[in-house]
Formats: sequence, structure tokens, C-alpha cells
Amino acid sequence: MKNNIYSVFEAHFPVNPDAIFIETPDGSSYSYGHLAEETARLASFMTKAGIKKGDRVAVQVEKSPEVIFLYLACLRAGFVYLPLNTAYTETELSYFLDNARPSAVVCRPSSEAFFNSKKNDDLIEVFTLEADGNRGSLVDNSRATAAEFETVDSAPDDLAVILYTSGTTGRPKGAMITHNNLAANGLALQQAWQWKQQDVLLHALPIFHIHGLFVACHNVLLGGSKMLFVEKFDTRTILQLLPKSTVMMGVPTFYTRLLDDDNFNQKVCDNVRLFISGSAPLLEQTFTEFKQRSGHTILERYGMTETGMNTSNPVDAERLPGTVGFALPGVSTRIVDENNQPLEQGVGALQVKGDNVFKGYWGMPEKTAEEFTDDGYFMTGDMAEFNPQGYISIVGRNKDMIITGGYNVYPKEVELLLDEVSGVKESAVIGLPHKDFGEAVTAVIVVEPGQSIANDSDIIAELKKQLASYKVPKKLMIVDQLERNTMGKVQKNLLREKYNTLYN
Ligand code: AMP
Repeated sequence: MKNNIYSVFEAHFPVNPDAIFIETPDGSSYSYGHLAEETARLASFMTKAGIKKGDRVAVQVEKSPEVIFLYLACLRAGFVYLPLNTAYTETELSYFLDNARPSAVVCRPSSEAFFNSKKNDDLIEVFTLEADGNRGSLVDNSRATAAEFETVDSAPDDLAVILYTSGTTGRPKGAMITHNNLAANGLALQQAWQWKQQDVLLHALPIFHIHGLFVACHNVLLGGSKMLFVEKFDTRTILQLLPKSTVMMGVPTFYTRLLDDDNFNQKVCDNVRLFISGSAPLLEQTFTEFKQRSGHTILERYGMTETGMNTSNPVDAERLPGTVGFALPGVSTRIVDENNQPLEQGVGALQVKGDNVFKGYWGMPEKTAEEFTDDGYFMTGDMAEFNPQGYISIVGRNKDMIITGGYNVYPKEVELLLDEVSGVKESAVIGLPHKDFGEAVTAVIVVEPGQSIANDSDIIAELKKQLASYKVPKKLMIVDQLERNTMGKVQKNLLREKYNTLYN
């Protein structure tokens, strides 16, 4: 079989081409036969437009089934798919374009002029796709192209996707994910979650992140099964679709939102076999309340952009709250002390190894080397410990990242901008517990002696021009000074303790 991940998916497609792949709440459905044709058409059209194997295709569009076909078409043609959060501003996008140097961009019509202004020797094509996925120059111009394309062969190590993850230095890093990474992780999850062709996935996640794009879609494709595809999480729609679903995947916020609705009960979940949570820690309180209300035990799993999924609670055995279960098939995990010695108990740094682990950061060989041990383990940056039964618990992040509503925010990026605000001497950005978002981005600011700063709402409005809104602090706290340790590092743990109940 070809090593192209699309060929791996194709080998699992249902025999009947009329079998449904995607269904949307408006009643539209898209079969596996349609998937094969549309991806062939798009792959052929873009190849004829001059995009070559290994070229990056950056995509910043609203969620629609057509985007999934575009993703699969890029895989088929050997292009490197580069999904971008729809919230990114032009300042952020300029960095990604300079760094990844894509050959083509697919964007919303509203940002066509911006991307056209960025055309250069590398960026030769800017296509548009409207929110419904049915219009825009990509689909309009490709309609006349025949749906014929032979999936290119790829080496296991060839890049399939670049996904940016922010760095603690504030500079986002492009994680290079190979065809083999995707195949290995997809197949491991099929096995661990006992995926079946009859499964129906309720898909309400964004598709510019590994959770919605890889974990959710790859399980469906490898199962030859169906997904109910919803633009975004909206409790009413979810309550209507749950009775037709067998699996739901979500970030913890999905589960708190369901619990907030009086119409959520056991009956609505009758048909569901598995509720899966990840991307951020699931509070024990949510786990317990969900069990009481629905009769279902949420299965929590753990992964990251660079590694795909690493661990999961079991389908067949006890699922424990506050834990992310055991290493998936083919994944080695270990928890080590400061000297890189494996620990059997106590908190240490979590490291992973396996075919799921990415190839490195795009254009950053030194940064990549820093993140791997001599014996080939990737340092996740998460702190973890084993419980007595061997389940892994993630206890915190040593990289200080904030996870708000399932999205990652690296404090440094926000601090750098805050420090430029007139009258600000210095700042520390922290995540504080928040019932709905998990963590709320919060800024602690020291004002330059003898100066004053603009009011909170003006500063927040200014930041919103430069940052995706989920990264912008919800509150600003003024202090006289930031406490530092002997190494000169701001002691953010003290700030977190001080403001722990700010939102709750
Ligand atoms: P991302 O690369 O956006 O997927 O973010 C990865 C990070 O999210 C991990 O390094 C963890 O810090 C965090 N994460 C993902 N799943 C979980 C989980 N189930 N519990 C705690 N943290 C999680």
C-alpha cells in the first residue's frame, strides 16, 4: 500500500460509495464517493495551478465539509496542509507567511486583498472559500476540472501537515507532522477506542487544531463511518444531534455547557457509547456531575500538537477522574526527574517516544534538538505522575502555557505587547481558574512610577487589534511590583495563588 495517509484512509472506506461520510444539520449529506471525487478534483486543479509536492498550502477559512475535502486533497497531492486559526490577525498571519512560505493560500473572501498583497516568488495562488464552502474561487474555478487524480506516493517521513504552536519565547513554532505520524496515531486510536463502522461521531470542534482535524476526522475515515458535522458548539444543536450519535469528542467546556442546560439528561445520551474529552484538563467536578446526570463516564485522553495522542483512559476498564489513563499502543511514555531518571512515583517531566511523535519544528533544527533527549524521547513540557494503578495524571505545565476554552495562549506573546503600552513598566500574564473557559487569561501589570495608564477597556481594545481575541486578557490587575525568585524569574505561582478566586 502507498504510504500516503490518504491511501491508508481509502483502504478503510466502505465498499458502498453511497455510504455517508458527512451529514450537516441543514440535512445535506456527502458520501464517500463524493469525497473521492471532490478530493481528486481539488488535487488535480491545484496541481495544474502549479502547486507541487512538498509545497505548503495555508488555509484560513470557516468550518465547512469542503474544508475537509481540501485537507484530504492536499494529502493526496503531497502538499503540506497548513491550517490557521480563523481568529489570527494580519500581524500574526504575516509571521506565518514569512516563516512557512506557502505556495498557495485558501482564505475567506474578506482577507483575499490582504493575502494578495503578500504574493511573492513562493506564494503564487490565493484562492477563496466562503463560509458555506459552496462558493469562492477555489470551488468555482475547480468545477470544470475532471475528478481524476492518482494519489501521489509519499515516503513515511514526508510532511503531511504543519501546525503552529506558540513558543514560550512568543514566536510560534511550526510542528512538522508526517504521513506516518498521522497513520500511526490514527490506527492506535481506532484500536484503543474500539472504533466501528457503525459509529456516528458528533463533530463540533474547530478544524484548524489536531483535536478536530486529526483525532476526530481520522477516526471517522479509518472507521469508514459517519460524522454529524456542526459548525460550532451550540448546546441546542448538540442536544438535537446527540440521540443520533454514538461518540462525542469535546474540550472540557463542551461538557460544562451541556451540564448548564436543563434539557441535558440520560435520555438524550441513550445512543451514545463514548464521550471523550481532551485538549485541557477536565475538572473532577465536571466528570462527577456528568456521570450523575447522564450515566456516562467521560473518557479523558491526553495529547499535543507535536505528538498527536499519547495516552487514554480505557474503554473497557475503569476511567479515573483527574487522570489521562495509559500510553496508547505504540507509544512509550516515561516520567523523569531533573536528571532524566525514570520515576515510578512522584511528579516529574513527561516524555514520549513513538511513531506518533513529530519530525521537528519547521526551520528550527536547534530548537528541535533541545526538545529531544539523547535517547530519542520528546520532552512534552508537561509535568505528570503515576497513580498507584499506573494511570497517568497531568499535574501542570512547566512551560507556563495557558489553556482557555481549549486554545493555547503563551503568556510571553501577550506580555510583549502589554509591555509596549504607554505607562506599563512590566507585566505578567497568567491563567486563572474559570468555570467556563477552564482558565482565563489575566494580566498583572506594574505601572511606571509617576505615570498612568489608559483604562482597562481601552488597553483591551488595543490588544484585540493585534491578537486573536481568545489571547486577550479578560482582566487587568495593577500591582506595585512583581515578585521574583533568585534567578530573576517572576514567581507566577504566587500570582496565581493571590488571584485564584478572581473569576469563581
Ligand atoms: P495542543 O498542542 O494545543 O494540543 O496542547 C497540548 C497541551 O494541552 C498539552 O501539552 C497539555 O498541557 C494540554 N492537554 C491536552 N490534553 C490534556 C488533558 N487531558 N489534561 C491536561 N492537559 C491536557
